[in-house]
Amino acid sequence: MDPTRARGDFEAVVRRVQNEVNRAKELATDSFQVYESINLKVLIQGNWKEYTRQPRTCHMQALRQVLTPFGLFNCPAHRGVEKAKIADKDAFADEATLINTTDRLASILDRFDASRECAHVTCLYNTVNWWIERMIEDQGEGAEVEPSAEYDDDDTFL
Ligand code: SF4
Repeated sequence: MDPTRARGDFEAVVRRVQNEVNRAKELATDSFQVYESINLKVLIQGNWKEYTRQPRTCHMQALRQVLTPFGLFNCPAHRGVEKAKIADKDAFADEATLINTTDRLASILDRFDASRECAHVTCLYNTVNWWIERMIEDQGEGAEVEPSAEYDDDDTFL
């Protein structure tokens, strides 16, 4: 494989995708809106690597998890991975399992080192994780809650 050619092919594909997104945006109306996903944006902008440097604690684990037939996991990127498992599939079956799941959720926040485990993941929650990290470091001082200019187009992926 010729790496120079592969790079050129990749850039051509990115250009094509960008052109098609731009065309789709021209069709937007009040009842038809076009959203660019964060992963598409970082691919087009070429800054995806910045999204691979995570804080040690992934704060998003506390805000959402993924329930699957194999159990409850901390993140879509680690679905099915044993060290990312929080509880069994009955995680929210009744009050007793809920209490147990809550305890285990607290413990995964300490034991799961996102800076290491997610070093090869282009994490879509990278910016919010660092924002929460800074709020914790600053103990809330000066941390304003404002919509990000970067995502002002209402990206609702969660
Ligand atoms: S990929 Fe991102 S959201 Fe998922 S566990 Fe790692 S840091 Fe958290």
